[in-house]
Amino acid sequence: MRITDELIELGRNPDGSFDLVEWIRALDNGILLEVSNEIARMEKKAKNAKPPKLSAEEKRDRNKARCVTYHAEHKEERSIKNKEWRASHKGEEKEYRAAYYKANKERLRANGKEWHKKNRPKVLAYFSERYRSNPQKYKAQSREWYKKNPDKVAAFESRSPAKVRAYAKKRRKEKPEEVRLIQATYRARKMGCTKGSAASIARWDKSWRFRKTARCFWCNSKVPTRDCHADHILALSKGGKHEIGNLCISCSHCNLRKSSQSIEKWNTKLVQPVLL
Ligand SMILES: [Zn+2]
Repeated sequence: MRITDELIELGRNPDGSFDLVEWIRALDNGILLEVSNEIARMEKKAKNAKPPKLSAEEKRDRNKARCVTYHAEHKEERSIKNKEWRASHKGEEKEYRAAYYKANKERLRANGKEWHKKNRPKVLAYFSERYRSNPQKYKAQSREWYKKNPDKVAAFESRSPAKVRAYAKKRRKEKPEEVRLIQATYRARKMGCTKGSAASIARWDKSWRFRKTARCFWCNSKVPTRDCHADHILALSKGGKHEIGNLCISCSHCNLRKSSQSIEKWNTKLVQPVLL
């Protein structure tokens, strides 16, 4: 019989002192032997017990956890090995990835979608950060994409007209000046007119758009800028250019009356004809 800590504890009084006499008596009576055997039996049983059966899901979770631990513990070693492997298998990796993607396309796409859904704020933050780092580049990319994929754009627009309308409305509300400029440029392009620098037109527009009042180029009256339009002196339909030199501030009244008349005809209606 092995005198283990557990057996010694059996002689301990509640106050922590050790009752040697009681303990020896228990030893003599064979009680300690019984207890010792019981402990040994339990230890043996625990040692031989088979690990509990895991369900497929539990097994997957366990393996995943093992993987994560392993990766965390061998991070540097793995990074070196990966680098070595890549150096000695140039090109293969790309092929391997492509083949893997092809073979598991449905699953990977579903996983990706699921991930994006769960991490939407993260994704949006990432893209807006990336856009802000180089807006010119991504604007150009986006324009390129629009040019290359008119069918996709049209498909989206016809699939979700409400979405497109809502977006346009939101843009008009948030940035009316920008939208107006874009629309003017679009009209000019559609009519095949020469266009000046969009940036300088925007600067010109900003220079008066936020003032309280402005003077109409045609009738010379002072009008609130909310009633002013940016007008083409020589109408686009008459071969006018969409550029700063051909733009003026016009009150809405004059602009609507003038429409696309020639300057000569329009001048006859003005109190003070404009010299060009
Ligand atoms: Zn006017």
